[in-house]
Amino acid sequence: MEKLIYERPLIKKLVTGMPNKFGMKTVNEPISHIENISVKELLEKYGSPLYVISEKTIRKVFKTAKRAFETRYPKVQFAWSYKTNYLNSVCNVYHQEGSWAEVVSGFEYDKAIGNGVDGNHILFNGPDKSEADLTKAIKNGSYIHIDNFDELYTIVKLVDEIKEKPKLAIRVNMDTGIFPQWDRFGFNYENGEAWKALNQILMNEKLELVGLHCHIGTYIMKTDAYAVAASKLAELAVRIKNKFNKNIKYIDLGGGFASKNTLKGAYLPASDTVPSFDEYAEAISNALLTSELEPQHMPTLILETGRALIDDSAYLLGTVQAIKRLADGRRSMIIDVGVNLLFTAFWYEHTITPAQPFSQYTEDTVIYGPLCMNIDVIRENINFPLLKKGDNFVINRIGAYNMTQWLQFITLRPNIVMIDLEGKVHIVRERETNENITNSERLPMHLQKK
Ligand SMILES: *Cc1c(COP(=O)(O)O)cnc(C)c1O
Repeated sequence: MEKLIYERPLIKKLVTGMPNKFGMKTVNEPISHIENISVKELLEKYGSPLYVISEKTIRKVFKTAKRAFETRYPKVQFAWSYKTNYLNSVCNVYHQEGSWAEVVSGFEYDKAIGNGVDGNHILFNGPDKSEADLTKAIKNGSYIHIDNFDELYTIVKLVDEIKEKPKLAIRVNMDTGIFPQWDRFGFNYENGEAWKALNQILMNEKLELVGLHCHIGTYIMKTDAYAVAASKLAELAVRIKNKFNKNIKYIDLGGGFASKNTLKGAYLPASDTVPSFDEYAEAISNALLTSELEPQHMPTLILETGRALIDDSAYLLGTVQAIKRLADGRRSMIIDVGVNLLFTAFWYEHTITPAQPFSQYTEDTVIYGPLCMNIDVIRENINFPLLKKGDNFVINRIGAYNMTQWLQFITLRPNIVMIDLEGKVHIVRERETNENITNSERLPMHLQKK
């Protein structure tokens, strides 16, 4: 018998309410305003599509996360994950709230310095640090989280030429009971590589070991995984103390807390299933506080939370371009937001809500972006109200990764505005122009029009 093609099982929770002949409603109320500012007015003034960031939400969510950890553990420090959203306006809100910077490239490192972050408040992660990057980081007193032995040996070579003693941590990867296990970054715990790297650093008088780092994955819904990670790093810290009589300054558990966006194919909406900051904090602090770490030398707990902090703080507004029937009779809707602006549509079922009152009738709809590319699908199938050309909509929870992983592809990137605490709207990144793109191009002489 021929093997059947595997089809992913898909079970959906039905939201109770009045069904109509097409099924249940997925949206109940329009979103006509964001923080009392009319969506239509924003689009008229700044163009469609438009990214809108709420400073108020950034600060509110940050305070919730900070409180969850600070009420449970004596010393806590957040470091903003630049790659999650490195708009200067966003980074500076986090820096004002007391966050350090967590960067994963020379480009991000320079951005953090440009934002006025002290060198000794920058954590430098990632597998790609050039000698120039490392030299700069050592001279600035930044914390270098070593990814591999080659990087360690490069640093050992560099310290012969640089006077400053580098402040080092290693990234550790480990089995925390989640699948897939991320083992491509850092040194493995179980096979002894992490311990070997630590010994090489601690035996070298020119190097200073300050911390231990891990980042076990992203969108981790199991708080237990963090408890395992914290226990394993604590165990390494205790071994360091026993063998070298040295107390490390910090344990950095990275990021990876899930945001409230629902993953494709998820059984329940994320808002019902994702752990709260309190639950993550409880698992982590409990593991550290009950470990064999000496009470008088508890390391600072560093967190590099990205998506769970920023996702709720931004919206993507847009306009319906056209409605059409597909060959199989299904309704489809073309909008001016594509995967070039909403990269996370590849793995999330984003919530999309009309910005004006809508009819109670709904229909199964495919939502396409404006790109002339088959992959440009925002929702494969959503039971959606019948919008028409020119109607507006709001996609919420898009703050993480979209403003960094976006693509300049086929169209230009639109304006980004931030609503401040007083309700004033500021452009924080201007829409791109043709010149922005072509200015860095060079046309060889023989191809120029005479
Ligand atoms: C991407 C990244 C983060 C942030 O991850 P989130 O899943 O967005 O919380 C933190 N630390 C490191 C090392 C990362 O690479």
